[in-house]
Amino acid sequence: MEIAFKKVAKEALDFELVKDGVRFFGKVSKKSDGLILLKADLAGKISHSCDRCGEDLEIEINEPLEILVSDGIYKGAADEIDVIEFYDGFIDFDEILQSEIESVKSDYHYCAKCKN
Ligand SMILES: [Zn+2]
Repeated sequence: MEIAFKKVAKEALDFELVKDGVRFFGKVSKKSDGLILLKADLAGKISHSCDRCGEDLEIEINEPLEILVSDGIYKGAADEIDVIEFYDGFIDFDEILQSEIESVKSDYHYCAKCKN
């Protein structure tokens, strides 16, 4: 799912996307020229395998997200908030969701057996 930067105004626009059992939903609104504020929630379960024994497990996620989406290279001050840049004039929600899922998976996750 993509939305053109030009189409996002100050008034928040709802979006919702479901992929691989994860629901990604929230609002986007224009913060300034070429800069969009995305406030959303990630909710659902991701299939993964235990980082110790390899057993299949599900990671439950339920987390709020606040991201700045920049139309081209971000020129503001960094650090305060996550920034994602797109270079073709469109916000690609699938890509944002995918990168959030990857970042959850990049943490260590252990099955119930290995936790004890
Ligand atoms: Zn395990």
